[in-house]
Amino acid sequence: MASLSAAISRSSSSPCFPPPNPNTASLSHHRNIFHSQCRAFPLSRPSLFLRKGLTLPPGRESSSTRICASVADVSLNLSVEEKQLPKGDTWSVHKFGGTCVGTSQRIKNVADIIIKDDSERKLVVVSAMSKVTDMMYDLINKAQSRDENYVAALDVVLEKHTQTAHDLLDGDHLASFLSQLHQDINNLKAMLRAIYIAGHATESFTDFVVGHGELWSAQMLSLVIRKNGVDCKWMDTREVLIVNPTSSNQVDPDYSLSQEGLEKWYSLNPAKVIIATGFIASTPQNIPTTLKRDGSDFSAAIMGALFRARQVTIWTDVDGVFSADPRKGFEAVILKTLSYQEAWEMSYFGANVLHPRTIIPVMRYGIPIIIRNIFNLSAPGTKICHPSVIEDEDKQDLQNFVKGFATIDNLALVNVEGTGMAGVPGTASAIFGAVKDVGANVIMISQASSEHSVCFAVPEKEVKAVAEALQSRFRQALDAGRLSQVAVVPNCSILAAVGQKMASTPGVSATLFNALAKASINVRAIAQGCSEYNITVVIKREDCIKALRAVHSRFYLSRTTIAMGIIGPGLIGSTLLDQLRDQASVLKEEFNIDLRVMGIISSKSMLLSESGIDLARWRELRDEKGEVANLDKFVHHVHGNHFIPNTAIVDCTSDSIIAGHYNDWLRKGIHVVTPNKKANSGPLDQYLSLRALQRQSYTHYFYEATVGAGLPIISTLRGLLETGDRILQIEGIFSGTLSYIFNNFKDGRAFSEVVAEAKEAGYTEPDPRDDLSGTDVARKVIILARESGLKLELSDIPVESLVPEPLRDCASAQEFMQQLPKFDQLLSKKQEEAENAGEVLRYVGVVDVTNKKGTVELRRYKKDHPFAHLSGSDNIIAFTTRRYQNQPLIVRGPGAGAQVTAGGIFSDILRLASYLGAPS
Ligand code: ADP
Ligand code: ASP
Ligand code: MG
Repeated sequence: MASLSAAISRSSSSPCFPPPNPNTASLSHHRNIFHSQCRAFPLSRPSLFLRKGLTLPPGRESSSTRICASVADVSLNLSVEEKQLPKGDTWSVHKFGGTCVGTSQRIKNVADIIIKDDSERKLVVVSAMSKVTDMMYDLINKAQSRDENYVAALDVVLEKHTQTAHDLLDGDHLASFLSQLHQDINNLKAMLRAIYIAGHATESFTDFVVGHGELWSAQMLSLVIRKNGVDCKWMDTREVLIVNPTSSNQVDPDYSLSQEGLEKWYSLNPAKVIIATGFIASTPQNIPTTLKRDGSDFSAAIMGALFRARQVTIWTDVDGVFSADPRKGFEAVILKTLSYQEAWEMSYFGANVLHPRTIIPVMRYGIPIIIRNIFNLSAPGTKICHPSVIEDEDKQDLQNFVKGFATIDNLALVNVEGTGMAGVPGTASAIFGAVKDVGANVIMISQASSEHSVCFAVPEKEVKAVAEALQSRFRQALDAGRLSQVAVVPNCSILAAVGQKMASTPGVSATLFNALAKASINVRAIAQGCSEYNITVVIKREDCIKALRAVHSRFYLSRTTIAMGIIGPGLIGSTLLDQLRDQASVLKEEFNIDLRVMGIISSKSMLLSESGIDLARWRELRDEKGEVANLDKFVHHVHGNHFIPNTAIVDCTSDSIIAGHYNDWLRKGIHVVTPNKKANSGPLDQYLSLRALQRQSYTHYFYEATVGAGLPIISTLRGLLETGDRILQIEGIFSGTLSYIFNNFKDGRAFSEVVAEAKEAGYTEPDPRDDLSGTDVARKVIILARESGLKLELSDIPVESLVPEPLRDCASAQEFMQQLPKFDQLLSKKQEEAENAGEVLRYVGVVDVTNKKGTVELRRYKKDHPFAHLSGSDNIIAFTTRRYQNQPLIVRGPGAGAQVTAGGIFSDILRLASYLGAPS
């Protein structure tokens, strides 16, 4: 042992550091075994090169970096207890991504998770600390472009790991790690210097350099686990994982060599917890290589297969696989399960939560992959396995034909077009041969069955070379007109919809294209693989997010998701917003009704939101983010989101100008809900055209709260009419204020005193003349009259005003209230007369359908009449109909107040939802 250590020290390029191995207090035995004869290894990491003697990239062997193990080492070899690798489901494999080991605290968390996992045996694959691989690539780039800053950049890398090690380790562990780190850094410095001088880095040099992040994170993690008293070994996977480079800048695992390597490694390092480096591997010639960017997932899957593990858990920073990229997708949802094919398609088409090549190794042995969030251990994650397992575990998920959407940006479409292509064998081969020759990666292909054109997508950065290669390859055909053009469409993106059997299920692709059409997205090309797991469309780059949101919401949002715009957040409007806030989650969870307030507008300002305003904070948000009110912009925003299928405008004002827009909104397909009486009691022709429009289209217009606030008056009337009853008369106390006043105008009290009391209690409008004039009641009468089929104008309704003639022109409400007592006599007299006759006075509205008339007036009722027994500000409405002739149908209850009015509007919104298909 000592002699080997000495041998290494002597021959290492940094003799001041003994070459430590964190797996043992001193050198690992296996190094001794494999270096039982003199062999070359690059720089100072002998442990890398044990299998057959790993070699430096050609021409890089250096006598100063050679090591010779002495004969004494061989004897050490014999003392190693050979252990056979126990393959099978006692093993669980974990992979921790860069963010999981991004800081010392996170490395501690990872160690905790590993220690707590109660599997009998664990193989843990780690990525480099986050950003480190990028930093390493940057070193190479700097060095080969002869930027001296590579030295400082390498110091940053050293500092980051030194600091992390100090946070995590102490004593011998710290010393041995730091000495290895310094040794590595010195070697890297030498190597980068060489690259700097040459102005060029070979692929194998690059791979050697960039893989260091994993070497350091794996060593640190294993030492932290040891510090916790758990025995574990770290594995430099270059000693085990053997891969063959392919022409497409990828590598293919050599399973049998890797298996051999693993068994050898294990025999020397039998351990129940192994921390292995992700990302790095060796070629069969022992040249260090990598599994390419983000390849640690792939490493974990290969390890899972080599160990025949029970499962592979991939830990990352999201709760699992989302139905769309959470950074782009609108309200993507976590998928509980995915089949191997679905996961593959998702990752291939850009869902970088999983490296696309991760699936193949585990699929072979049916090993499930679980994607989990290290920052949210309570989330169960996404399970990727065979569809048959999903079928047993998650029937509902299987019914969901579209599982997810993925996108790839920065593509260009190449279109090779011409009549001379049809029926000519070999055209496709010639096209793709030319593409292959320039090393471009074809992401999708589409050929119309007329064979008139072949179109395919390649990465934008490769399209120039591809186009040139095609132009030159087909020069003759182009000149002869057999091919009309080789056209390039730049700035494209791919959107792929993925789902088991999706494409074979009728209607799914129709829905997909329909959603794209509704969002006005032009599809440039379409491809559907025969696998039926995927439908791919090529769209303009700028449409990508819009398209993703449109299709995602079509498949994932509730059918009764309604984008709402609230106009007039006054007393009623804001009460409605509060009610929506309180009820939203119940509606969503129990009734699948998803109400999104996309905008709130008052006369001065408006608040707009892309995905729905947080109704618990709308007032603060309005203060923070409100903008100047602009009704057109507001409506355009609420209706123009492309991903919520339905839009409703809720007008909580009493404004006739706003009411004037209903026609236009309904025409545009916007549903309207309102307590505003102005539209229905305005000019008759406008009312009639509004109702006609409503009937012709599938757009809805609800206004229950225009009469009797939340009481079911319009709906009762409609119910009677629709079921064939004939309305004879509607008579009622429609004003809560006047109801209150006349309920209390008794026992010799003065009328003005009761009005003052009502005003005090907040039952009247700020100017009580607005109530006493009877106009509001007249509007309700006209609404009911028109609803009953009468074609009346507001001016056709005689209204008995309770405002004494001389006070109609008083300047202020205050003056009016002061003057009112002077006129008490008038009403006191009427009240006494009624009293003397055993009757009460009531201010009523009447629709006399039989005689096609309406009126608003004071009437007297016997003391046993239902109208005589009201309390507070109740409304009461009596429908006399053919069916309810002797005993009218009576609706009674509080007919004013913000809560009940908002409740009436809310129930109209829910009525709209049920018309749109919500469950009952
Ligand atoms: P790690 O470093 O752990 O390997 P990655 O950054 O490679 O993590 O992958 C995780 C990231 O993938 C997530 O943070 C997320 O932003 C992104 N991502 C893209 N598409 C999806 C998707 N469909 N589901 C989940 N995450 C996705
Ligand atoms: N560290 C490597 C990379 O950033 C591999 C990985 O994290 O999967 O590409
Ligand atoms: Mg990753």
